[in-house]
Amino acid sequence: MSFRARLTLFFVLIVIVPMLSVAIVLFRLISDNETGKADAGLRVTSRVAVRLYEEARAEADEVVAAVGTDRRLAAALRDRREAAAQARARALLAAREIERIELTGGDVELAAGSPDAIAPTERTLVGAGGERFGTLAVSVTGAAAYARELRAATGADVAVTAGGRILATTVAGLEPADVPAAGTAVDVDVGGESRRAVTVDEPGFGGRTVAVTVFVDEAGAGAVTRSRWLAAGILVGFLVLALTFAVAVSRSLQAQIGSFLAAARRIASGDFSTEVTTTGRDEFAELGAEFNKMSHQLAARLEDLRQERARLETSLRRIGETFASNLDRDALLEIVVRTAVDGLGADGGRANARPAPGRPLQEVVRAGEVDARLETLRRAEAGALAGGGAAEASDDGAHALAHALSGTEPGELLGMLSVVRAGAPFEDRDRELLSYLAGSASVSIQNVALHEAVQRQAVTDELTGLFNHRRFQEAIVAEVERARRFGQPMSLVMLDIDHFKRVNDTHGHQQGDRVLAEVARVLRDRSREIDAPARYGGEELALVVPQTDAEGAYQLAERVRQEVEALEIPLLDGSGSIRVTASLGVASLPADAEDGGGLIAAADAALYAAKRAGRNKTVRADGKV
Ligand code: GH3
Ligand code: MG
Ligand code: MG
Repeated sequence: MSFRARLTLFFVLIVIVPMLSVAIVLFRLISDNETGKADAGLRVTSRVAVRLYEEARAEADEVVAAVGTDRRLAAALRDRREAAAQARARALLAAREIERIELTGGDVELAAGSPDAIAPTERTLVGAGGERFGTLAVSVTGAAAYARELRAATGADVAVTAGGRILATTVAGLEPADVPAAGTAVDVDVGGESRRAVTVDEPGFGGRTVAVTVFVDEAGAGAVTRSRWLAAGILVGFLVLALTFAVAVSRSLQAQIGSFLAAARRIASGDFSTEVTTTGRDEFAELGAEFNKMSHQLAARLEDLRQERARLETSLRRIGETFASNLDRDALLEIVVRTAVDGLGADGGRANARPAPGRPLQEVVRAGEVDARLETLRRAEAGALAGGGAAEASDDGAHALAHALSGTEPGELLGMLSVVRAGAPFEDRDRELLSYLAGSASVSIQNVALHEAVQRQAVTDELTGLFNHRRFQEAIVAEVERARRFGQPMSLVMLDIDHFKRVNDTHGHQQGDRVLAEVARVLRDRSREIDAPARYGGEELALVVPQTDAEGAYQLAERVRQEVEALEIPLLDGSGSIRVTASLGVASLPADAEDGGGLIAAADAALYAAKRAGRNKTVRADGKV
């Protein structure tokens, strides 16, 4: 059964059923009241009937004496002249307006007058000599006259009955069987109409009774009908009022519930924008407010999820980009730390790594808020460092999770990845994610290191650690181009170790290599970041010096020459040390050449000029010493 149907049923029950009960009780009361009124009327009417009857008998009483003392009648009775007595009785009837005369219980019996006469008075008839003639009964009232008088006096219908015969009545169609026996008031059905009636017995002729019945209309009084209509009208009015109210309340309830239903459907379809309208302060308003609150929370939760998803997408994209690009280690670690912080919902995190192989770990990347929780973070990192895997630490509501970045060698530690957050402790899911990120980061760091090593090797001379010839050529091309573009000077210094053959010959090639490496170190140490020290070939070295003119380059070359001269290079067999000198040639753009090739040739020429000039010298391409 639908809510609407149940609500309607409910209102019907609380409105119609009580109304019906009230109607039944009210109509019963009205009915009782009618009966009461009818009975009261009957009581009055029957009293009038009795009094009228008594009056009729009293009138007869006045007459009976005259009849009883009528001499002619008495003579006829004494002489037992029945016919004469009868004739005298008839004469008396006419003379005195007597309805009926009866004489019973004597030698002569008389009966004259109407058989419908009622209300007789009796008297024992005694002769002059004391002889008894019987009982004389006289009536001056006919049943019809009595009935008429009673109706005129009371307005009620009347029936006069004796010995099962209706003597007179004002009720049309009344049957002897309809007449109730004497007693209390009863309902009588006369000709299909319900009447209220009561019968009183009065004395009649010869010891028989005369039943006088009075009738009143049960519904007869118009007032009674009016009160019924009034009651019915009031009840209907109440019913309409109650039903109107019930319908209004029901409608408003249904409207409220309908709006909740619509709102729930909107939420189910993912629309959180519209609210349930709440008016007033009733439970529905509270329910609506709670409903709206719930809707807002759902919307906020959904927004959280959306943001979480966006973060995850960003992280995934970041990781993808990392794998696709040739990033350096620190850039890689930065992405890993950010991903870990986002992925674990941490407040902050950091990555530690070795600045150079064999050096202790130090922080290289930091993301989010770490400072306030650094101690907790450090404790977790110390645990991970000791265990070589993951470790956690917690301090008053803050939780840190650290994971070592392990190399391929047993016990090799590349770095440390750690995150910290206030609130919920980390779960298995978080540990797995960090472990996964740490594993991936370790592999990537090793790959980056490998990549960097290969790149370095491709441009580096192994013995001296300087750029190789190929890289030197690239540097020349690049710097010449740059110098031209920016209109800046640039220089090239060429260096050749003096009598190097002798070193080889005297101390062996390995010692020669050592000497070459030491001289190269001097050149490297004298270089600025933008300079490019290179091994040109054999024991000839070169230094590309951007943004520097011939004079500056000469000063630089001279310092190198002096430092080489001052070098004391230990002998490999430990039997002392040796010293070497070097000759240097300096050429500059745009003074000494027009292009890279010209610059190299000019510097080379200057170098040989230095050799020829006696070695351990620096010579400029313009011939200056
Ligand atoms: P000079 O003063 O004229 O330069 O005399 P020099 O003996 O140094 O002559 P040169 O510059 O022609 O020297 C070339 C020698 O350098 C030949 C070779 O044995 C030696 N050499 C070249 N490359 C290397 C190297 O990588 N290691 C060793 N040990 N010796 C090398
Ligand atoms: Mg040489
Ligand atoms: Mg040489």
